[in-house]
Amino acid sequence: MKILICAFAALSFALAEGGAFRYDLGDLEIIAIKDTDTNMGKEILENPDAPIVKSALADNQNHSSINAFVARSKTPQSATPTVLVDTGLGKSLFENLRSAGVTPESVRIVAITHMHGDHIGGLTKDGKPTFPAARVLLPKLDLEYWLGSGEENKKAAQTLQAAYGDRLATFEWDSQIAPNILALKAEGHTPGHTAFEVKSGDKKLLIIADLIHSFKVQFADPTQSVIYDIDPVLAASTRVKLLNYAANANMPIAGMHIPFPGIGKVVKEGRGYRFEPIE
Ligand SMILES: [Zn+2]
Repeated sequence: MKILICAFAALSFALAEGGAFRYDLGDLEIIAIKDTDTNMGKEILENPDAPIVKSALADNQNHSSINAFVARSKTPQSATPTVLVDTGLGKSLFENLRSAGVTPESVRIVAITHMHGDHIGGLTKDGKPTFPAARVLLPKLDLEYWLGSGEENKKAAQTLQAAYGDRLATFEWDSQIAPNILALKAEGHTPGHTAFEVKSGDKKLLIIADLIHSFKVQFADPTQSVIYDIDPVLAASTRVKLLNYAANANMPIAGMHIPFPGIGKVVKEGRGYRFEPIE
């Protein structure tokens, strides 16, 4: 089954060989890193009986990936720090980082879009930090929410705090988390859910984090939320707003759950959008 999914993703996107994919953004290279492939089925949609869901997912093949993204300078001596955005579950992340020439030691900032397990999982192994030289930056609102919301979340947050100590910090929206990366409000999926706008010269890329869990449904109709959206109504309005922003600015997007490598353009179509994966 897994092989079939991989084969399909490779066919659809014709470039998903291996688990690392480079994308040029001015003086920076963005490297999509695949942690794993998934197929979540239509039951993850808030409204699985909506006509768009029934037609787009008639075969119930809602394939996706868990992706992370590296932003680093093309010039090795540059002062621009190597930044990793999210860490997946930590399944194939390290193997695929290594295959792209990114060692855990070379990562100076790990910026987290939100604190779900499929984004922070690679930050620790057996409670120990996996990025020995990195500062870990968490959305302030998510850390507060996680620390105050049930034992499992609290434990996950405390594990990160214990592992990274004073190398762990929080950020707020509209702040630069690195010289060329701006944190943008993308609330709804979680209280602190964040998109990152990466800039080099006049080139920009928007890392949309978990705005999209079903690329077949949610581009065509961004008002469809998923059961993982903590506030589905707010998540839907954020999705509409940010896809509109990217489409108007002709800015490519990168998504954590768009099939690997998860990078492409958003084009307005009908009442929604069409996703054009990069080639
Ligand atoms: Zn996720």
